[in-house]
Amino acid sequence: MSKLQDNMFLEMRNKELFKQAQQYAFEYLEGVFDRNVYPTEEALKNLSVFNEELPVNSTNAKRVIEQLHKYGNPATTATLGGRYFGFVCGSVVPVGLAAKNLGTYWDQAPAMNVLSPIGSKLESVVEKWLVELFHLPQTTSAGFVSGTSTANLCGLAAARYRILERNHWDINEKGLRNSPKIRIVTGKHAHSTVLKAIGILGLGKENIEWVEVDNQGRIIPESIPELDENTILILQAGNVNSGAFDDFERICKKAKKANAWVHIDGAFGLWAQAVKELQHLTKGIEKASSWAVDGHKTLNTPYDCGIILCSDQEAMTSALHMSGSYIVESDERDGMFYTPEMSRRARIIELWSILKYLGKNGIDEMILNMTQRAKQFAEEITKTKGFYVENDIVLNQVLVRCDTDEITDRVLHTIQRLRVCWLGGSMWFGKKVMRVSICSWATTESDISKAVKSFQKALALETTKGHKA
Ligand SMILES: *Cc1c(COP(=O)(O)O)cnc(C)c1O
Repeated sequence: MSKLQDNMFLEMRNKELFKQAQQYAFEYLEGVFDRNVYPTEEALKNLSVFNEELPVNSTNAKRVIEQLHKYGNPATTATLGGRYFGFVCGSVVPVGLAAKNLGTYWDQAPAMNVLSPIGSKLESVVEKWLVELFHLPQTTSAGFVSGTSTANLCGLAAARYRILERNHWDINEKGLRNSPKIRIVTGKHAHSTVLKAIGILGLGKENIEWVEVDNQGRIIPESIPELDENTILILQAGNVNSGAFDDFERICKKAKKANAWVHIDGAFGLWAQAVKELQHLTKGIEKASSWAVDGHKTLNTPYDCGIILCSDQEAMTSALHMSGSYIVESDERDGMFYTPEMSRRARIIELWSILKYLGKNGIDEMILNMTQRAKQFAEEITKTKGFYVENDIVLNQVLVRCDTDEITDRVLHTIQRLRVCWLGGSMWFGKKVMRVSICSWATTESDISKAVKSFQKALALETTKGHKA
């Protein structure tokens, strides 16, 4: 046995390495809810310790973990806490973190049932739960992918397969060259990952027929062109800025009549369909053909966790199918037929654990709290002179601006520098806005008040500076 092999057996046996990592992890959890959200300048500067050459010889494993803790921990953003409002992220439900930890030691890849019976079992159970939770057609299957970027890609790949198949064209065999034309219709506020998927799939962004949107970013139903059976219509459940939802009831009915394929980008918003009090937002969404949604945003699973749901199982598996002489198909679920990857981690472990832990009522409560906190934020911030809320608060997004783009920019920068909370900026109909996304189970009323105070402080600092200048 080589020295290296010897050492690795030893580490597996005496578990010191794992105990140390766990202790560091617990230290991290102790601090993460109270600390400043963004790393300090010093922590960022210290990242330069990672600028080193790849070691020639194997090094001490404990020191590897030590370095990660010492310099990695302070340079994380506290997305787990209640005052991270950047992009559209999400914290982690504790049971999901614990389950991920346990599953890490199993190191499962649920590509085939024989590769991971437990992974395969949990995937089939969660598929059924999600179909019920979202009130989707009974024929719907689920693929467990890394996020909505990939889920969008899978949904559009299924659509591409089906439309071409109806035209007697097998995309897998013949490719796109000289293929029948596929029309793409989507709103002017489609998410960038939808455009990316269109690009990757060779459908061509130039071919998109863009539809006008209203002042919340929703597609204007009257502006949708005539649809036909060769059209993919892409709708949105949760505009990434305003959180707004397209009018699925009206649009899907029209699309269904034309036999068009409707794909829903519901990265964070599809969860509204699981909550009775929010179902007015998603009415009619079950009439679509495919739905992309994240676990790692609204549901607060650990990264990375996305789901593609598709009512046309044959289109989905045909689009993503692969085979090889060594592949063992079974009567149970073989996960790889529903995802672009063959090997992938068993993210289903966390997803299952969180759904089982929360239950239907827990999901409702967690999501409704996000909506209430968003409304609280909007209410408190509009009471402060100099701040304006630019959108209707329907789910979890609040767009705030100041009197001018320049002030908005500088105030945002100051808020980021104060580090009490963290959020980013965006453009909203030609104006700069600060985008507050409330996506964490951990956000309390007091977190919102603290954040609002930080906004007020930033504006006050800005105003005094302005007077001095
Ligand atoms: C976040 C988001 C995506 C991309 O999802 P990832 O999980 O980051 O890949 C797509 N669409 C919308 C509306 C989103 O909010």
